[in-house]
Amino acid sequence: MKPIFKRGMSLLLGLTMAVSLFTATSFTSEAKSKKSAKKNIVVVLDAGHDTTHMGCHYENFEEGLANLYIAYYCKQELEKYSGVTVYMTRNTLECPYGADPASATKCLASRVNFAKNAKATVLVSLHNDYDPDLDKSQNGSKVIIPNPNYKPQLCVQGTQLGQSILTQLVGTGLAVNNWKLCPNGTGLVTRDSASGKYPDGSAKDYYALINQSKSVGIPCIIVEHAFCTNDSDRVNHLSTPEQYQQLGVADATGIANYYGLKLKQ
Ligand SMILES: [Zn+2]
Repeated sequence: MKPIFKRGMSLLLGLTMAVSLFTATSFTSEAKSKKSAKKNIVVVLDAGHDTTHMGCHYENFEEGLANLYIAYYCKQELEKYSGVTVYMTRNTLECPYGADPASATKCLASRVNFAKNAKATVLVSLHNDYDPDLDKSQNGSKVIIPNPNYKPQLCVQGTQLGQSILTQLVGTGLAVNNWKLCPNGTGLVTRDSASGKYPDGSAKDYYALINQSKSVGIPCIIVEHAFCTNDSDRVNHLSTPEQYQQLGVADATGIANYYGLKLKQ
């Protein structure tokens, strides 16, 4: 635990300085530029987990911190394009939604609510994976997309956006993950709830972030960049700020390509 914490703290110092430069944007200041709202898209980036709702950790890797780095670098890169406003559901390691350890559900609902209030075009949740059996053969990237039920157009958008991001992630040297829970070989996966239903009686998406976003009409995808339990993924993609930057830039490029964004002049 100790080395993880020490490393986390030193990474955090750099990140705190960097993030403070990028948190000035607010809903109100953005409202002034409503004139160009017609073509403007709003991307809400969700750095998965926080210090209350912990993600995976293995060796020197801590998911909540890694996801925050990736989100920050993704935002920084996306803001090089015109016609896009970018928000993050959290800007620090702490949970901004009450930090109730007993209610991860409430935290996830608050993240979706944040996206709704921001009038999000899309909610992109950034994560990394861990194989619970420590199966080191599980590696690479996958994107969890909305299933085709209830609002099928969100599945279509998720498929195209997911593919665009996956193409960029593979460009960084990551493999396409064939997730053993939902294997289909494409790196684009849907996962249904075993019992939850949408109002039309069809199976809900398994992940709360995706099914709650679907309920309010926002396409939501979960990008699982790499496996911390795979040595090559962890050493070559999940160990340094530069590597997190490479992943964030890949996500941003995939998003920009899908929405046809142009770099600012
Ligand atoms: Zn996660």
